Amino acid sequence: MNRNAVMKLIDKVYINGEFVKPDGTERMNIINPSTEELIGQVLLGNETDTRKSIAAAKEAFITYSRTSIEERGLMLQRIHDAILSRAADLNQACMEEYGATAKAAEFRTQISADSFLLAKEAMEAFEFTRHIGKAKVVFEPLGVAAAITPWNANNSQIAIKVATAISAGCTIVVKASEFSSIQTQILAECFHDAGLPAGVVNIVYGLGTSVGAELSRNPDIALISFTGSANTAKAIQHSAVDTMKRVVLELGGKSANIILDDADFTKAIPRAVTSAFGNHGQMCIAGSRLLVPEHRLDEVKELIKLAVENTKVGYPWENDTFIGPLMNENQYKRVQRYIKIGMEEGADLVIGGEGHPEGLEKGYFVKPTVFANVTRDMTIAREEIFGPVLSILTYRTEEEAVEIANDTEYGLGAYISSSNLEKANRIASQLVAGTVLINDVIFEMRAPYGGFKQSGIGREGGIYGLEEYLEPKTILSSNLEGN
Ligand code: NAD
Repeated sequence: MNRNAVMKLIDKVYINGEFVKPDGTERMNIINPSTEELIGQVLLGNETDTRKSIAAAKEAFITYSRTSIEERGLMLQRIHDAILSRAADLNQACMEEYGATAKAAEFRTQISADSFLLAKEAMEAFEFTRHIGKAKVVFEPLGVAAAITPWNANNSQIAIKVATAISAGCTIVVKASEFSSIQTQILAECFHDAGLPAGVVNIVYGLGTSVGAELSRNPDIALISFTGSANTAKAIQHSAVDTMKRVVLELGGKSANIILDDADFTKAIPRAVTSAFGNHGQMCIAGSRLLVPEHRLDEVKELIKLAVENTKVGYPWENDTFIGPLMNENQYKRVQRYIKIGMEEGADLVIGGEGHPEGLEKGYFVKPTVFANVTRDMTIAREEIFGPVLSILTYRTEEEAVEIANDTEYGLGAYISSSNLEKANRIASQLVAGTVLINDVIFEMRAPYGGFKQSGIGREGGIYGLEEYLEPKTILSSNLEGN
């Protein structure tokens, strides 16, 4: 990473194929979370900018929705190439603006680029016209979509939504997190450089309460694809109801990680640390509740202590760092508050605790923290903390493990470690979770991703994600003689 990066000024929104000054005048500082240094400013758009973007996307939809699969395929390929050609810039932005480690930043950039090829693949595999009995069913693009994204996986979240929308023949307005403007700006330049027709993708920086709220209520938006917290999702749904928009919601989680008695604990426990503390714990699918057999608790505590001690907390640009800073001061304070609550509610601190790690007093670094003897009713077992805080709960029987795992308002993910795959699959079938990972922390972007319960509505990924942007039309016809 170039640590002497110049101050960035993001003072243009991307509307109708042009970078233009926004109508909004509010400026927001961009702070590097590793150093607390001011690294730039973004000029935020407002409702007027949002309405202009929607109008551009609506106009573009008239012709773009009629483009062929081949034409869209070429555009998706060109965007993929444009993103790869800016990989170094995106990686640097992700490290500077978010505090991602070098490895994580590269991974995200790769996901962003891959999203466009995967969307192309799904589009080419999708049967847009089907014959069902006497009917012809045609899947048509829904209209103008809106993407509202969070800060924790920003460039890849934007990429997945834009790739899917344009593969479906929809046009889109993106409102990225106000905390990820540098990454968003680079993506906007990639869309522009790829030669997309004007208005197909529009990007407005701005606050949720202005730009986000306008997108949610505007009658010309047909679909909102939102990734973020459940509370914001509820506000969006309320605003969207009047115009009966489709909403696809990818929300938070409190995912359980069940270690079965027959698992290899020496592998399962370090994996539990990776699943809980990946992306510095700021991961919707973090395995933040570790469920272990009661009689193995002491062994688990020893192993987890060792695994956390071996996990480096440090600056993102240092090679072996796994846990970098949290995103901003609010996140830092939020996580500190949860650690305090954990202590007050009587959980046992295994490692970590309040305050900064030694030597990292500047920056939003927190100590990776593990609590044991956590009970189901404790706040730290119920609420999404979104930081490197892991709660260990114990179970006596596998039935009880499943019951505890499902005892949450969320249903995004679950992890199982076992040497018996058949048993692990049987347990997987009983878990109320959109994704279950057995003995690994891997993902398949072609598979549906999303949650049960308050973890969301709808799915992203492959043909499942594509279908969300389409509306099936049934055409029934008979020849005139039959009438
Ligand atoms: P957030 O809900 O605070 O914000 C998400 C986006 O919504 C931001 O762009 C924000 O500006 C916007 N917003 C805020 N208020 C709004 C309003 N009233 N109307 C419209 N838009 C509004 O979430 P965050 O703090 O940015 O991200 C963290 C959350 O995202 C966590 O809960 C995490 O679990 C979730 N998340 C889920 C997934 C998933 O795929 N399921 C992936 C990443 C993050």
